[in-house]
Amino acid sequence: MTTQAALSLFDVLSIRRDFPILHQEINGKPLAFLDSAASSQKPRQVIDCLEDYYRRYNANVHRGVYKLSEQATFAYERARGKVARFVNARSPKEVIFTRNATESINLVARSWGDANLREGDRILLSVMEHHANLIPWQMLAQRTGAQLDFVRVDGEGRLVMEDVDRLLTEKTRLVAITHQSNVLGTINPIQELALRAHSFGALMLVDAAQSVPHMPVDVQTLDVDFLAFSGHKMCAPTGIGVLWGRRSLLEAMPPFLGGGSMIKTVDLHTATYADVPARFEAGTPAIAEAIALGEAVDYLQRLGLATIYQHEHELTAYALERLSAIEGLTIYGPKTTEMRGGSISFTLDMVHPHDIAALLDSDGVAVRAGHHCCQPLHTLLDVPATTRASFYLYNTQEEIDRLAIGLERTQKLFA
Ligand code: PLP
Repeated sequence: MTTQAALSLFDVLSIRRDFPILHQEINGKPLAFLDSAASSQKPRQVIDCLEDYYRRYNANVHRGVYKLSEQATFAYERARGKVARFVNARSPKEVIFTRNATESINLVARSWGDANLREGDRILLSVMEHHANLIPWQMLAQRTGAQLDFVRVDGEGRLVMEDVDRLLTEKTRLVAITHQSNVLGTINPIQELALRAHSFGALMLVDAAQSVPHMPVDVQTLDVDFLAFSGHKMCAPTGIGVLWGRRSLLEAMPPFLGGGSMIKTVDLHTATYADVPARFEAGTPAIAEAIALGEAVDYLQRLGLATIYQHEHELTAYALERLSAIEGLTIYGPKTTEMRGGSISFTLDMVHPHDIAALLDSDGVAVRAGHHCCQPLHTLLDVPATTRASFYLYNTQEEIDRLAIGLERTQKLFA
């Protein structure tokens, strides 16, 4: 199917019918939900899938020999397979279910990091990282004596690639960078970064919390080593996330958490550990949530990630045009849609970002204000906070008009 043909099939109004939460009024106005970068809404297919699990086959996995447990185990493992195919993993064994992207990154820092890093080793990050891809490395550096280096961003919110050349050395053991910034919307050249990291013998970890929900992501094409993302930003429930890792690396890594389900044999003083992925899934996992993540993957794949990306691309282009025309409004991040996703952070002269969000809320428009868990980036941008509008498959041009009208009204009110 050509992109054009696919686009004509992308019927946003019928997609919206799948999302019950969108059909309500907030402060007497129809809800315009423009905060999907924080967490997406869920289609009825995913909600029904959760309910179906609890109504028909709720049981613990990998343990029972009775029918319900077998059904739950089958559905849980089938979800793993769906996620593996979704990111083009070589095997479902490379997919570890976690609670969220944050836990996935912590898993790598604790397990791979503690086992492999020494004083003097270096980790290359960027200044646009979410705290989820910063704090675990700060903590690892404190434990091991490793040092952190940071790639800067330019005035357009793009990575300064000369910094990568300058900072990557034989001492660099890991490059950990976000695929798409949750503040700037910048899409980073991950394939290129992985290539450069590998040429120095470093591993490449990608924080894909803002990319996997919005665009086709293929771990083999990107040629990365670890990829972390969260279910709740991609139409799935909260409480389920994914760490994809190269199998040879995962197999060599020690456990992160200890307990049931992650062992082969146990005596009072020692234990041997299960093979991956079980080694990294201690205790009862988020069974219903994992199964519902599989349903969310089906949902997104039915629409097609390239088509979803195209829809958001058009919304972003329209929003950039509308917002740029507002007096006193500053957009942080690329002003064009090239290598840019649908998160737009901005400030409005003389108006506090929280006031903007509160005024928009009175019009039924939900946006986020704050540092969006990127405090160092905001310090560099020299603003304590920004307001952020972010788009997903169910958003419309009309909602962006309402955002722009609300901002124009706010600007006049405070002028
Ligand atoms: N990385 C990025 C770029 C994010 O935007 C977020 C969440 O906003 C995270 C990581 C952390 O995701 P979670 O809170 O689901 O672990």
